[in-house]
Amino acid sequence: MVYLKSSFWRFCLLCLPLSSALIIPQSVLAEDAEDTVSDVTRQLETNEVEFNITDYTSPGEWEPTAWDYDVAIVGGGPAGLAASMSLARVARTSILYDSQEYRNGQTRYMHDVLGQDGEVPLKFRAAVRKQIDELYPDYSFWATRKTKVIGIIPLEKGFRVYDDKGGTVTAKRVIMATGIKDVLPNKPGFAEAFGRGVFWCPWCDGHDYKDRKMVVYGKLASAIGSALNVRKLTTDITIVTGGPLTKEDKDAAEARWPGWETVIKNTYKIPIRENEITKVERTTTKMEPKDDEYRVHLNGGSPNPIVTNGMLISVPTTQTSSLHKQLRLEMDGSSVKVKKNMESSINGLYVVGDANNDGSTNAYHAMWSAKRAVVSAHVSMSKQEYLDAVPTAMVAAAGGDEDFYRLQIQDLEFQVGDDVEQMFKALGG
Ligand SMILES: Cc1cc2nc3c(=O)[nH]c(=O)nc-3n(C[C@H](O)[C@H](O)[C@H](O)COP(=O)(O)OP(=O)(O)OC[C@H]3O[C@@H](n4cnc5c(N)ncnc54)[C@H](O)[C@@H]3O)c2cc1C
Repeated sequence: MVYLKSSFWRFCLLCLPLSSALIIPQSVLAEDAEDTVSDVTRQLETNEVEFNITDYTSPGEWEPTAWDYDVAIVGGGPAGLAASMSLARVARTSILYDSQEYRNGQTRYMHDVLGQDGEVPLKFRAAVRKQIDELYPDYSFWATRKTKVIGIIPLEKGFRVYDDKGGTVTAKRVIMATGIKDVLPNKPGFAEAFGRGVFWCPWCDGHDYKDRKMVVYGKLASAIGSALNVRKLTTDITIVTGGPLTKEDKDAAEARWPGWETVIKNTYKIPIRENEITKVERTTTKMEPKDDEYRVHLNGGSPNPIVTNGMLISVPTTQTSSLHKQLRLEMDGSSVKVKKNMESSINGLYVVGDANNDGSTNAYHAMWSAKRAVVSAHVSMSKQEYLDAVPTAMVAAAGGDEDFYRLQIQDLEFQVGDDVEQMFKALGG
């Protein structure tokens, strides 16, 4: 195999549209390694993250000659685990980091997942890890338990990953499955009750409160929507709006639910309490969903407190990790923006599961989006490997003239004005 100089790859990179499937991670295209270090250092200096690149790297680390793993996976929830298994199925090596901060860490049972309905999330994760360990020991590797990735640096053809135990590895691709956190009201009792009677997803937990008392807490327009989503499960619903309704609240509700006042109050007979919650108090020490009972204390009105079995809330979310800041990923609100193949604004770095802006946050989506990223990563790596292998034949056919080969590629790119798919086909792929 004839090795091409890195300048050749830079040339290729510049020739190819960024949307191409030949994914060489973005940006680090400075002329030499030292420039590269200072460029990245400059970028990171302004970040509000702890990771300081100069504490961890030396200039020699910027162009590794071999890769420790095909893929580094950050996150050990359903998304990260799905990525690990799927990569192993096509004999791609991966290392998985898990800081053990799961969104459903307090949840008692997982629901609405085929074959797993009613399973304890911890047991689900453990069973998946065991199966991967047993079936794919040569491909799926785990960083020490509870290891946090603190920095990821894009290199010319891959990434370097740094963890909080002082470890560093290189990988050709990164899959971030780092999840999100629910930002709960800063009121006594909410944090303890979350996942144990206080929930956000009707499909996940709603069924436990079938024909039981339910409070729906949130701004009027979204609370009405939530109430409608659980009304088939129970009609014993009280909406709590978090304070007196303003004209804006009512207008927003009217715009979304025309005639809401008549339908919600009179037809469905759902009381609307214009109060704020001051405290959520569990009234039983038993922990099964069938035992759930809470007193929801309000800042006024009657009855007070409200007694309920479940409470459906609608709260904002935030990223669990700060890696998106360190990497300066393009965001869509609080979610990381991804393309259809789950790739972020950095080529070769995928974001899957709850953390991305794909619009769903559940176990199915976590697994499906990971699968999609793995397919894209595997195909792109295979293409890159193919192109790495091509020069021997091409250059030999061209009498060993590397420039000739390069010009052919260049001409091809300009002629077709298309992405690397065309080049791949033209080269016999
Ligand atoms: C109360 C509740 C109940 C739910 N019930 C259900 C249900 O019944 N059915 C369902 O389908 N969905 C349910 N969900 C949603 C489900 O939990 C999520 O959709 C799912 O966990 C998302 O998977 P994920 O892998 O993207 O993220 P997570 O499961 O949150 O995993 C994120 C992973 O990333 C790791 N991580 C983060 N940052 C770093 C870092 N810097 N370094 C290393 N590791 C890092 C974390 O430690 C963790 O391992 C529920 C959610 C909540 C809150």
